[in-house]
Amino acid sequence: MTDITHVTVLGTGVLGSQIAFQTAYSGFAVAAYDISDEVLEKARQRFAGLADTYRVDGVAGDAEGKAVAALDRVRYSADLADAVKDADLVIEAIPEILSLKQETYEKLGKVAPEKTIFATNSSTLLPSDLKDFTGRPEKFLALHFANQVWKYNTAEVMGTADTDPAVFDEIVAFAGEIGMVPIPIHKEKAGYVLNSLLVPFLNASYALAAGGYAEPKDIDNVWRIATGAPLGPLQITDIIGLTTPYNILSNAGPEAKPLAEWLKATYIDQGKLGIATGHGFYDYTNTGE
Ligand code: NAD
Repeated sequence: MTDITHVTVLGTGVLGSQIAFQTAYSGFAVAAYDISDEVLEKARQRFAGLADTYRVDGVAGDAEGKAVAALDRVRYSADLADAVKDADLVIEAIPEILSLKQETYEKLGKVAPEKTIFATNSSTLLPSDLKDFTGRPEKFLALHFANQVWKYNTAEVMGTADTDPAVFDEIVAFAGEIGMVPIPIHKEKAGYVLNSLLVPFLNASYALAAGGYAEPKDIDNVWRIATGAPLGPLQITDIIGLTTPYNILSNAGPEAKPLAEWLKATYIDQGKLGIATGHGFYDYTNTGE
């Protein structure tokens, strides 16, 4: 059991709203912070939508309206000092822009109580890129969730060399308290564990398809049948959306450029961006194939 009772989430977008709602659902008092009252009004709608999703998805059998009750544990504030005044933990889920995160940590470090632990949900930045802006590197680390936290409930916990081991352990325990499976990472690693495995795996599948070695469906078939995995790499890509791997490949140096161009010319330029658009490596409009 941790000493954490009050959690503030910075940013109420895709991931921030899910993290805040899951935390409230788990019984914590949550403050949701975003840049304006207008954005926070949208956040209220997102939270209500999540309460509905939890009911529909039958998360923990929601017969007693636990998801709706969670809404009452969330308060909203567009004033940073007010949002963090009681916080034992701040989880930051603002856009993936280094300068914006650095500025935000500088402000946060000045207004948050001394006891408050800060955790970043950043996907691609290392906590070392941010720690010196927090004013409290010993109480700062990464806590990285996966999209759709109620279903894909991993939380990768990764500190810097400066993170106090007791703080690290407390956040591992907290992740468990909000229904996540904590994945402690002992040294800083870009991509954490998940993306260190997933990105090269997906890239290998694109190289096989782009090189004409095998058809996309057969690449997925061999992976599924021979390993027992539920999905092949190209099916996974259709769920993620093709823009994300395209952006990753485009920023991965000159050797990765031809693969990025192939994804763009063959799929993205044809409007085939993944399941969300009805087409990706597969056509989802009729047959689900
Ligand atoms: P998003 O764009 O959906 O949401 C960002 C939110 O932050 C918006 O509500 C925006 O108004 C708010 N914001 C902007 N500036 C702010 C500021 N200065 N202070 C407070 N709030 C501010 O982004 P997202 O997809 O939720 O990603 C947020 C973070 O989570 C990123 O670091 C991203 O790498 C990480 N992440 C995203 C995913 C994903 O699948 N989307 C998965 C894991 C981690």
